Amino acid sequence: MTHQKPAGLPDRIRHFIDGEFVDSVGGETFDVLDPVTNENYIQAAAGQQADVDRAVAAAKRAFQEGPWPKLLPRERSRVLHKIADIVESRDAQLAELESFDSGLPITQAKGQARRAAENFRFFADLIVAQHDDTFKVPGRQINYVNRKPIGVAGLITPWNTPFMLESWKLGPALATGNTVVLKPAEFTPLSASLWAEIFREAGVPDGVFNLVNGLGEEAGDALVKHPDVPLISFTGESSTGSLIFGNAAPFLKGLSMELGGKSPAVVFADADLEAALDATVFGVFSLNGERCTAGSRILVQREIYDEFVERYAERAKNVVVGLPSDPATEVGALVHPEHYDKVMSYVEIGKGEARLVAGGGRPEGFPTGNYVAPTVFADVSPDARIFQEEIFGPVVAITPFDTDEEALELANNTKYGLAAYIWTSNLKRAHNFSQSVDAGMVWLNSNNVRDLRTPFGGVKASGLGHEGGYRSIDFYTDQQAVHITLNEAHSPKFGVVAP
Ligand code: NAD
Repeated sequence: MTHQKPAGLPDRIRHFIDGEFVDSVGGETFDVLDPVTNENYIQAAAGQQADVDRAVAAAKRAFQEGPWPKLLPRERSRVLHKIADIVESRDAQLAELESFDSGLPITQAKGQARRAAENFRFFADLIVAQHDDTFKVPGRQINYVNRKPIGVAGLITPWNTPFMLESWKLGPALATGNTVVLKPAEFTPLSASLWAEIFREAGVPDGVFNLVNGLGEEAGDALVKHPDVPLISFTGESSTGSLIFGNAAPFLKGLSMELGGKSPAVVFADADLEAALDATVFGVFSLNGERCTAGSRILVQREIYDEFVERYAERAKNVVVGLPSDPATEVGALVHPEHYDKVMSYVEIGKGEARLVAGGGRPEGFPTGNYVAPTVFADVSPDARIFQEEIFGPVVAITPFDTDEEALELANNTKYGLAAYIWTSNLKRAHNFSQSVDAGMVWLNSNNVRDLRTPFGGVKASGLGHEGGYRSIDFYTDQQAVHITLNEAHSPKFGVVAP
């Protein structure tokens, strides 16, 4: 199999503002690299303040004057279902572009495209099923909650599974009647343009969806600091989240933050070892290890530790590294040379901190491109940097423990708190552990399955707020409480004590 550019690439990547594809006002662009060759394969418009201003103005006008926020939920729902239909019908193309742009294995990119369609269907249904709270005191008063879209939502997204993660924000923001400005990650801007085509085909009115490409510190920063953008939904690194938090503070914006992770997978001696091995290998190496919920610290009970490490290393060596476009590939190329250098620097740090049992550099037969062999370190101490810091690549740290208490202490011993995975056949132990572990999401003897109704999010440095289900509806709507007195006798007046 040879590496080729996918058919149908545009000549350049542009912004999409008020229903039109446009270049930056000042003509600025940036390079987008192919992760397999690191060649600049396309130029993308680099949004500046002026471009963000145009996009926000269009979104504000569409919110204030356009039909979108005033449509019946059923009418918006119909458009959202149409979007899902189009995403499904274009899933092969979407996966091909996403895989080419990000280095993600094609089979995994296909799954992500389907999940994006599901997200739209889910919010299309939820918005119709949604009923607002009403509280009645018979004969005295009625109180009800009026949910209203807020305005222009600024959506800032990362480069890992970009199209799918954008759907988490676009789906609920649009379902609830807001208008949006999306700023996708600069490493992977290709698939975001497809949203523009898809929304146009589905009949989303001009100005409701706007896209500004560009660098975080330019386009992203301008969006965060724009006074006409009351909401920012951000997914990315914890350090960027912290910066955005500060920059949004003077405006008192609504913020949703999905941030980094260093999630523990805890394997007790009484676990189904075969299943735990399968899931913990998949849990860190799928999506190239560029997964926020990766179980990148595996804590293993001492009785089974040696056997686990040996079998885990064996499996890691058998993970198939290859061209992202090859259906047999399990780990493709990392997204960008800057990220590759970061991951490789952690591999070198790890060699000085722990025992290397698999990988540790470039895989054989891949002299160029951002390829990293699935890498396993054993005997990792909790103060090692590879235990504490998010690497976001195909690198895992394994650490032994003796007791339940020690496992919990190790699990909670980082600044993060996104996910935790527990492998044991003891139900009480599993539930007790879940109660005490610092994690927004816990998987017991399972791996990353999630019903879309459940909240997604982290604690500690892993996030603020939740996405998913009604939590997203809450974030993208104002809840206005309306109170009516039905009986004058029950209206408070000076000098009258209500019965
Ligand atoms: P990043 O923080 O570098 O960038 C994310 C986005 O923020 C990009 O669009 C970037 O351009 C923009 N940005 C950067 N600086 C900005 C600024 N000053 N103002 C406004 N916007 C700015 O993150 P990344 O490297 O693209 O993504 C990887 C990170 O995302 C990892 O830490 C991963 O764990 C995290 N992530 C979290 C989740 C989750 O749901 N918790 C999901 C996916 C990824």
